[in-house]
Amino acid sequence: MTKPIRILIVDDEKVIREGCARSLSDRDYEIHKEENGEKGISRLQEQRFDIVLLDLLMPGMDGFSVLKWIVAHQPEVLVIVITGFATVVKAVEAMKLGAFDFVGKPFTPDYIRLVVERAVEKRTLMNEASRLREEKNLDLETIVEEQSRLQTVFSCMEGAILVTNREGVVVLHNPAAIKLLEIQTDPVIGKPLADSIRDQNAIAMVKDVVGIGSAITKEFPPGSISRLYLRAHCAPVRTSTGKTLGSVTVFEDITTHKRIDEQKSEFVAMVAHELRAPLASIEQMFYAIALCDENDGDRRQHLQNRISVRIKDQLQLIENLLSLSRLESGAVVLTLETENGNTILADVIEAVRPRTENKDLKLQYQPAPQDWWAQVDHDQIRVVFTNIVDNAIKYSPAGGTVTVSVSVGSSLAKVAIADTGIGIEAENLPNIFEKFFRVKGKATRGITGSGLGLSLVKKILEAHKGYIDVSSQPNQGTTFTISLPLIPSGVA
Ligand code: ADP
Repeated sequence: MTKPIRILIVDDEKVIREGCARSLSDRDYEIHKEENGEKGISRLQEQRFDIVLLDLLMPGMDGFSVLKWIVAHQPEVLVIVITGFATVVKAVEAMKLGAFDFVGKPFTPDYIRLVVERAVEKRTLMNEASRLREEKNLDLETIVEEQSRLQTVFSCMEGAILVTNREGVVVLHNPAAIKLLEIQTDPVIGKPLADSIRDQNAIAMVKDVVGIGSAITKEFPPGSISRLYLRAHCAPVRTSTGKTLGSVTVFEDITTHKRIDEQKSEFVAMVAHELRAPLASIEQMFYAIALCDENDGDRRQHLQNRISVRIKDQLQLIENLLSLSRLESGAVVLTLETENGNTILADVIEAVRPRTENKDLKLQYQPAPQDWWAQVDHDQIRVVFTNIVDNAIKYSPAGGTVTVSVSVGSSLAKVAIADTGIGIEAENLPNIFEKFFRVKGKATRGITGSGLGLSLVKKILEAHKGYIDVSSQPNQGTTFTISLPLIPSGVA
């Protein structure tokens, strides 16, 4: 709904004020009246008016002063001056100052209506023009804002984007395109795609997409477009009528995904191998038992014992595998409690002691002189100590010594498990914490294991914000040192 035209009549003569108002009363105008210049200006300051009918000759502030004020402060207001008879010169003067029109006294109602209508017409046109101007500015602002927003999004995108026209000339790209596709051409825009990308398959892909008008997804191994493994999705750019204008290709770096896929396949192959090998030997031993002479009880017993060991190993392997995968997937929620380190270690030592005695090994335990406390998951930390002490026993020939000693610092407790066993060659040390890694050689032949123990230990310790170190001398022995954070003032 349009606002009604607002008219202010400023005249010191009441009859003129009333006469004008009456003449215009049958129109849809909003009319206000003031009797002198000062009041007229205050009214203009308070409210918005479209047209002012202004008497030039008034006591006090005259019409010229009011006109000047309006021109200076509210130039959009149309002023019609009312002049006395035979004062056309004054009227012309007022027009020069910026009045829109004039009426001479005395005037007929029709005449005043005519002049005001002209002003209203002009006012309406001016209002419409200003509305259109505002709308246009608003549209432009929106477009500029939209463009800069799109530009920002485009520049921040991680994937490389290349847009070509129908002829395969690059018309747009984002900064990631230069980096990911290792483009040397400068500038890229305006030149054929073949100037920036040497790979013929990529160029053919873009050409095909423009030709057939449907999208293609392709992978590019390292060395084809760049040093990265890239996946490209190329789609045609079409008008609303379906005409193909060119292509837009999004390249994403899938190097890490590919590496993870490869690692997964390797891991599955390793697990399959590790699970199959013991089963095959168990099967063979069953055959051997079946072929045993009925009287050969000793051999039968021996084979049964070996089957039992193999099955235990197999179960341990599966147990370790499950624990590792649970730890890696974050499915294990540690139940951390404040535990006395000396007590846990004393328990572990007592549990493994029979194994050292069976093997004629000496087991020495040198606990910390004072109690020490750490936030640990009791079962998991037992797995850590047991695994390392078991390894020390496993990889030490009879007659050797396994020593477990503890030193307590200000923030860490260090548990050292030293053996006098076969030791580990320096070249193998960096690998022993990898899944399924086992040192292969004369010394380890016949010692069973899954190669998962140390990776499990490392993972558990990381979950406790602890760590493990190793030092070793082949044929002399190995020392693993486990560091665990003490709880504040965790020494009693
Ligand atoms: P495994 O089940 O084979 O013992 P681990 O992950 O516990 O697997 O250990 C990985 C490898 O590190 C072992 O196969 C062995 O070659 C070496 N190793 C571990 N502990 C010792 C040790 N105390 N002395 C010598 N070699 C060891």
